[in-house]
Amino acid sequence: MHCPYCRNTDTRVLDSRVADDGGSIRRRRTCPADTGGCGKRFTTVEQMQLTVLKRSGATEPFARDKAISGVRKACKGRPVTEDQLAHLGQDVEDALRLSGAAEIPANEVGLAILGPLRELDEVAYLRFASVYRAFESADDFEDEIAILRAERQVPDSPAELTSAPSG
Ligand SMILES: [Zn+2]
Repeated sequence: MHCPYCRNTDTRVLDSRVADDGGSIRRRRTCPADTGGCGKRFTTVEQMQLTVLKRSGATEPFARDKAISGVRKACKGRPVTEDQLAHLGQDVEDALRLSGAAEIPANEVGLAILGPLRELDEVAYLRFASVYRAFESADDFEDEIAILRAERQVPDSPAELTSAPSG
């Protein structure tokens, strides 16, 4: 690991700490002035490499951009910003890391996307779900929309259950 200030390659680890969630290690490093470095300090974070197991059986390193490329397509023409997409990518990666597994089947990456995407934009969610779950007919869309509606109409308090209008 070279020094980010002077590019000296002879840097030293001062201290290593496991981060709170246990999924990463922080190292405090120094670029020692006594061996020709600049004397500055910096921190590195070491994380487990997430691997995606594809349906073909091949594996590839998890890449946030690639993971949300399908979401990006589904959001075309929708009021979803790049910031929100980046945030969703972060949420998905966090959720996958929290699972603690190093190798994640591709369909689980898709599953991890569905929840946060539904919060973000229901139309984009339906588009993404139609591809991901291989919707075959308009009925599949109607079923999914019915679920969305039903969950949106869940009353906030029990009182609303008994005072619902009849007509
Ligand atoms: Zn340096």
